[in-house]
Amino acid sequence: MATQNQSKKIQCGNCKAENDVPPYTSVVTCEYCGTPNELQSGKIIENHHMLSVYFSGSELTELIPQYLSKYVGVPEDFADKTVFKQFELRMMPFWVFKFHAHTDYKGMGKYVNPNQTNAWSQHISIKQRPEQGSIDLDQTCLIFGYREQHKEIRDEKVPVGSKTAFDIKAVQAEGGVILDTEIGYDDAYAIAEGQVKNRHQKLIYREIVKIDGMNQTINLKEISYLHVPFYRVIYGYGDWEGEALVDAARGKVLRAEYPVSRSHRFWGLFGIVFALGLMGLAIYLAFASSWAIAGYVGIVVFLGFLIFMMKETFTKKKVASE
Ligand SMILES: [Zn+2]
Repeated sequence: MATQNQSKKIQCGNCKAENDVPPYTSVVTCEYCGTPNELQSGKIIENHHMLSVYFSGSELTELIPQYLSKYVGVPEDFADKTVFKQFELRMMPFWVFKFHAHTDYKGMGKYVNPNQTNAWSQHISIKQRPEQGSIDLDQTCLIFGYREQHKEIRDEKVPVGSKTAFDIKAVQAEGGVILDTEIGYDDAYAIAEGQVKNRHQKLIYREIVKIDGMNQTINLKEISYLHVPFYRVIYGYGDWEGEALVDAARGKVLRAEYPVSRSHRFWGLFGIVFALGLMGLAIYLAFASSWAIAGYVGIVVFLGFLIFMMKETFTKKKVASE
């Protein structure tokens, strides 16, 4: 352990308790009162929400085998023989921004002008003319708190509408670990604002082809720091060990690893032998018969088949995810 790198501390802006500052974090949620402290501004974040945990560890022991049952190659006795070893409840950080944005724009629009000067040809010309309009939208932007890590969570459609006030006691009662955002308020705001601008621009380009002028106002209506619960589950099947990630608010399995059954591997081996036989035949055709072209084609096709069967057979762990 590096001793010269003393861990930083921060005093909670709400309850004054001292908290450790983990590396690469922009916010520290007080472990005593649950208040988020933003490090850059030194202020507390007033709006702190969470999604409630609706699924407990014991329900996951049914949910995961049930989810995996539809995948090919999962051992038949997987549900009976799987031993669940660890359930880690992680509260993952998101920023939620609600904007109201209004854009007035003018530019050149395209329109079709059926040219009638020549009666013999149906000539259609596309012309441009000045156009203007406005876009007026409410938009909610959800910014995940990590840049690189936990990629499988980033694209989750989090049901923001069902958020409730953050309750540190409820999280602790479930044994939840609180993770805080790496992306600070200013950066998250800039990303969210960029999403709003992007959306307006896309909508404008649906109407016109060239923008000559624009007047845009983006108002922030609400900001919230949101913690969403996910389970990381570790389980074993004989000597094999794997893990799954479950959205704990909705009980949805995001990804789950599974062992490949013995019979699946047996048919894989059978397939390899079969593919080798076909390869032999193809090589014979290519080099020792007058069917050379058929032989070359066969070599390519059966080599692909062989590689596929080998991959299927020798991977002992597969991942199911949607
Ligand atoms: Zn506190």
